Amino acid sequence: MKDILNITSNQTYTESSGDVEYVAETRCWPVFGPQVIYFSGYFTFNPSVRRCLSEHENVHAKQCRAFGFWNYVNTSHHVKEMEAYAAELKCLQDKLNGNGECCEAQ
Ligand SMILES: [Zn+2]
Repeated sequence: MKDILNITSNQTYTESSGDVEYVAETRCWPVFGPQVIYFSGYFTFNPSVRRCLSEHENVHAKQCRAFGFWNYVNTSHHVKEMEAYAAELKCLQDKLNGNGECCEAQ
């Protein structure tokens, strides 16, 4: 695997299952809307990876605004994650392909 993203073999990339550490989370509140929270693990990644992780969370923030609180919390986790991971994957692929359009470091 190319190490252009500097992901080391012992570093968990992002949320998956089991006791994996969450590096970011988007909460959806009534009236207030989305709140994206980045945990300490997030800051262990390089800027390119952080940018793609935030692409993932941005999808959830958009879903929260588009669905509204009630529909967001009642929409399947899998449905919400498919769109978020698709955006995250596209961002990572763009990075790996040298196309930084979506992924300039923050
Ligand atoms: Zn997600």
